[in-house]
Amino acid sequence: MKNKLSVKVFFILLPLAISILLFSYGYYQAREKLTIDHVFQSGQLSASIGSSEISHYIEGRFAEFDRLSGVMSTCDVSTDTLPKLSSNAINFTRGFSALIISDLSGRAVNFNLSANKSNRYILRQDIEQLQVLTPLVLERLESSYQQWLTSYPKNLTLEEQALNKLLDLKQRGEENSQASRDISNQLVELREQRNYPKLVLSFATTEIVSQLGLIFDEETYFFTRPLVDCEQNLIGYYTAVLDRTLIEEQIASIKQSLIDSGLERIDVFLVRNHDTQPLCDVNYLSVDKFQQYGLNDTIEPRFRNELNGIMITHPITLELKQHLIFESISTEGISEPEFDLSLAVFISNSELEQSHIDHVKEVSLYLLIALALFAVLTIYLSHYIASPIIDLRKRISVLSRQGEIRANFKVRDDEIGDLFKAFNDMAHNIKNKESQLTKLATEDPLTGILNRRALVKNAVDSHRVYTPSCICMMDLDHFKQVNDECGHSIGDKVLVAFCEIVASEIRHSDLLGRLGGEEFALVLPQTNLDDGIQLAERIRKRVEAELAASVYGNFDIAITVSIGVVEWHAEDFNKALSRADKCLYEAKALGRNQTCS
Ligand code: GH3
Ligand code: MG
Ligand code: MG
Repeated sequence: MKNKLSVKVFFILLPLAISILLFSYGYYQAREKLTIDHVFQSGQLSASIGSSEISHYIEGRFAEFDRLSGVMSTCDVSTDTLPKLSSNAINFTRGFSALIISDLSGRAVNFNLSANKSNRYILRQDIEQLQVLTPLVLERLESSYQQWLTSYPKNLTLEEQALNKLLDLKQRGEENSQASRDISNQLVELREQRNYPKLVLSFATTEIVSQLGLIFDEETYFFTRPLVDCEQNLIGYYTAVLDRTLIEEQIASIKQSLIDSGLERIDVFLVRNHDTQPLCDVNYLSVDKFQQYGLNDTIEPRFRNELNGIMITHPITLELKQHLIFESISTEGISEPEFDLSLAVFISNSELEQSHIDHVKEVSLYLLIALALFAVLTIYLSHYIASPIIDLRKRISVLSRQGEIRANFKVRDDEIGDLFKAFNDMAHNIKNKESQLTKLATEDPLTGILNRRALVKNAVDSHRVYTPSCICMMDLDHFKQVNDECGHSIGDKVLVAFCEIVASEIRHSDLLGRLGGEEFALVLPQTNLDDGIQLAERIRKRVEAELAASVYGNFDIAITVSIGVVEWHAEDFNKALSRADKCLYEAKALGRNQTCS
């Protein structure tokens, strides 16, 4: 891979991405677990509170039914007084829809609706002679009456005895003793048993409820008791119809509390235990499957795969069982009969699936944001680290290939910035050293003009383009004497001043070089001999006139120069130079301070 550093940055940061993934997974798991716990707990809590509320509610109905019985236990029971009696009795209750009085064969002889709102729209139905009690219920009622009949006189005697004992204790001043309290309790129980025969709780079918013309034409419960006259003769039965709508209100409020806790796809309903028949409408539960597989065997919530949801069933228990006879259970039954009802809460799997989808969405969103940030971070970091290094690499290759220092670079306030600065300083240093070396190789260090080698090279180069050229050889006269009399350093200054004079006379394209000592050569491209001689003469005259004075005013030595000039055409430069040297020699020989060509 070309961009190795970026790849490395990616791999360095990879654990971060993995941690993000792991964290998201953990978060998702925790959310799922929390949701399931929440669903289980809410369901269980609602079912247990709901079932005890309904138990309580039904027990409240027993108390009401006893109050109703209080009105019905009068000696004045006749066909004339019955309607008044029954309408008086029903108005002692709140949880019943109607009171039916039936004859010994279980046929209705009197019917009274309560003031409950569930009866508001009901038209009075003719239910005289309607068979309201089944043979089984009549059998149970008969046995309730017989039990009461045998216990009644016995209880009267027992009551008499207990009362006497209590009086004895009171006379002895022990009315507050434990014994006295025990006897009082016994008395309460005796009186309860004696007063009313046990009530028979039976299940009223849809058919019978609709025949009664009640607004809810669904199953409900009948509370029935034998009607007894003052001579303890059985003269009929009275039946209170449990107001189903009030129980449904209770169930609706349980359901609402679950909806409030965030669960939507739920069913809350009463179920009959013995045949697993729901007694309310259900939306999510498959009733067929429920009846096939049955209730839960514990009160704990359970995943029911076959029902595709979570099921919680909570039995509705009653405290007052010894005062009841259940229609479905034989009175001779040894085992304690259970109230045949449970509260069920069913939470559909789609509820969990929805929250599962919500969690996946939520976690995906977080994950996406985190991974996007990760990607941005990776790209930024690799760019931040790799790009200056790539830039530096390019600069180095440009420097090494073309000897160029690339100018602008971003100034950074970190180690990479330092590296760039160091690199740039180094590159400039090399450049300076290089130009110093070039200078040393081409320049005469004292005068700054070309040295012999550079002069030769430049002269040959320019001669290729511009011919003819003129070559002037120049040598200062009696220079040894200047050195001897004025000192070597003054001699040096003279050499520098001489070059300045020559430089001021020549063109930009002319080449001035020092051949050695006080010998100089001038190459004048595109110049013929006459022009060359003219220039040489100008130089010679200016040297004679200015040079000595420009360096030392108080010495009395004139400085002059002898010049040999030749025209240079096609020949080798060295040969042309030696011709010029010969002319110079001639000038020296002719007495110096002359130009010869
Ligand atoms: P002529 O007129 O025949 O040229 O006499 P001259 O004395 O100039 O000739 P010669 O070649 O005998 O002497 C050259 C002198 O130039 C010798 C040397 O001391 C002096 N010289 C050479 N190079 C330098 C230099 O760089 N600085 C100084 N101050 N003197 C130099
Ligand atoms: Mg010389
Ligand atoms: Mg000389």
